[in-house]
Amino acid sequence: MERLKTKIRDIPDFPKPGVLFKDITPLVGDPATLRLAVHQLLHPFLEQGITAVGGIEARGFIFGALVAWELGVGFIPLRKSGKLPYEVRSISYQLEYGSASLEAHTDSLGPGDNVLLVDDLLATGGTAKASCELVESLGATVAACAFVIELDFLHGRERLSDYTVHSLVHY
Ligand code: IMP
Repeated sequence: MERLKTKIRDIPDFPKPGVLFKDITPLVGDPATLRLAVHQLLHPFLEQGITAVGGIEARGFIFGALVAWELGVGFIPLRKSGKLPYEVRSISYQLEYGSASLEAHTDSLGPGDNVLLVDDLLATGGTAKASCELVESLGATVAACAFVIELDFLHGRERLSDYTVHSLVHY
């Protein structure tokens, strides 16, 4: 996975001072690396009976939609509040400062769905944990959470200890 790391760029002090942001735009801009990442994300789940892929706004949409396409299943956007037009189920979660919420359409998933959640990066795990709970609140099962990047030092995996976590590169 060293090849993926060559296309992930560090941006110091973004979006605020003291944060070292992992920028995946070089990775998604390079066709061979993008293809490699998408195949590695979905590979463990080819025979797992995935019925839908949930993508977390916004970079999870890029990888999640491609994973869904490759698996031949539908893509379900999990969006920040106020973005989805139909009836929504919402979940709030804590951020370092303040709180945020994620929403899904109430008719997007249900019992019988086995969902692969996809995002670009696992940090503290708060976003992914909330996403799992949102999917479950609609009656669906979370098969696993798949990330391109995992920041090991933030221990997000511990927060997701009830779930299968698959990450391609670690920092
Ligand atoms: P967590 O909830 O702390 O795990 O943060 C993960 C969420 O924040 C994901 O949706 C990521 O897209 C986003 N995020 C946090 N840090 C970075 C970064 O360095 N690069 C890209 N996305 C990030």
